[in-house]
Amino acid sequence: MWRFSSSQTLLNNNKMRKLASIQKIKALEPIEGADAIEKATVLGWQLVVKKGEFNVEDMAVYCEIDSLMPDKPEFEFLKPRGMRIKTVRLRGQVSQGICFPLSILPSDFAVVEDADCTDILGITKYEPAMPACLSGIAKGKFPSFIPKTDETRVQVLQKVLDKYKGEKCYVTEKLDGSSATFYVKDGEFGVCSRNLELIEDAENSFWKVARQMDIERKLRSIGKNISIQGELIGEGIQGNKLKLKGQTVKFFNAFDIDKFEYLNFFDFNKLIGELKLPIVPIVALDYELENDIDAIVKMATIKSQILKDVWAEGIVIRPYTEKIDLLLLNENFDNGRVSFKAINPEFLLKYGE
Ligand code: ATP
Ligand code: MN
Repeated sequence: MWRFSSSQTLLNNNKMRKLASIQKIKALEPIEGADAIEKATVLGWQLVVKKGEFNVEDMAVYCEIDSLMPDKPEFEFLKPRGMRIKTVRLRGQVSQGICFPLSILPSDFAVVEDADCTDILGITKYEPAMPACLSGIAKGKFPSFIPKTDETRVQVLQKVLDKYKGEKCYVTEKLDGSSATFYVKDGEFGVCSRNLELIEDAENSFWKVARQMDIERKLRSIGKNISIQGELIGEGIQGNKLKLKGQTVKFFNAFDIDKFEYLNFFDFNKLIGELKLPIVPIVALDYELENDIDAIVKMATIKSQILKDVWAEGIVIRPYTEKIDLLLLNENFDNGRVSFKAINPEFLLKYGE
């Protein structure tokens, strides 16, 4: 029997983030007190460019933050920053990403808006090193019956905002830890990191926290094939910016394995509440999605609800009713779920990202 639903095909698709692409300069504005540079808007990003280098409507090669550039003369100026494109502040203006002239491309490259230039330019993604307590021994690949966790950045989702503006959403705080997945399927309990299923091990934080939080017993008590996903945070993880004692998981997903569907927000909340497990902090309820990337980034520029004087990493926005949409699948988006993040630029500046 043919049992794959359309949502299943969408949710299982895994693609790489498009770090470099051909984009139009949407706007150019002066920066107060600066005459050699100006502010450009590309996609939903704002960045500083040399004055006069581009005109509005020009095409350029835009490289996002987290791009790790190859060791070539045209990228030489990034050597002091380890060849990495980070969020910076220049003359008071936050700048995210870099625009290069089309001439950095091979002469036979077809110049089409949105075309992916990541591979042709030899760009890879910067990934922070993983601490030993998180690595563990793999039992196998991440299970195919659960989608991996991921969130796309709002800056590349203008079309999604156009379509879903006004939609009733909930907004949670994005925690800067490590993705954790727990499941019970056909009597089997499993623990996974972002990309792997892990063998039980007393030294591994994912398994330690699973035992501390009694997750196996709690998931079995539900009596069906189910997965819950959250962010592992605390001592030894990502610098423990929220200064927690010990480690914990704050949950953000519940997934019905047999239906291959996420529980909607209300059912998720009810389930996690009944299991007496913590959820990620809630930033806003009944948020009517605005068609305004700058306003959403502003909403992400907040302190953490867990530790009030520390910048939050950002926010994650989702409609109350789960939605799957092809708009979040095309090109660089790896999962059709309508759910996305806005990272707090102040967090990126503070922690050098
Ligand atoms: P990028 O896709 O931008 O290159 P990345 O894939 O490393 O980066 P993250 O920046 O880590 O992604 O953002 C996605 C992750 O955020 C999810 O996999 C999840 O583990 C984590 N996360 C933390 N807090 C939340 C939350 N409140 N809701 C959903 N996911 C969250
Ligand atoms: Mn991602």
